[in-house]
Amino acid sequence: MLIVFLISICAYYKLTPLLLSIITVVHAEVNAILNKCSSSVRGATIYVALFPCNECSKVIIQSGIREVVYLNDFYHDTDACKASRIMFKMAGVKLRQYKPEREEILIDFES
Ligand SMILES: [Zn+2]
Repeated sequence: MLIVFLISICAYYKLTPLLLSIITVVHAEVNAILNKCSSSVRGATIYVALFPCNECSKVIIQSGIREVVYLNDFYHDTDACKASRIMFKMAGVKLRQYKPEREEILIDFES
């Protein structure tokens, strides 16, 4: 049902699927904060795969999260990530890149 609805929006507004995803998708960080299993995340640490974009950074800061631990900083030189760093610094949010001790973890469900 959702897919039919989204295809209809694309056709009606003459949007490409990429543009539709950009304007409709909620990023993982915002989704995590909205669907948290606690009354508040104030003072918490958030663990993310990619360094947060500027939109997610605003929500992270406003929610009171005090530390961001990220695995990958692939988009380091983009304007969105540069803006994020500035906002985090101004808000006093600690940033830390997670350095795994192992390169892979194998989970074998067969044995
Ligand atoms: Zn984001």
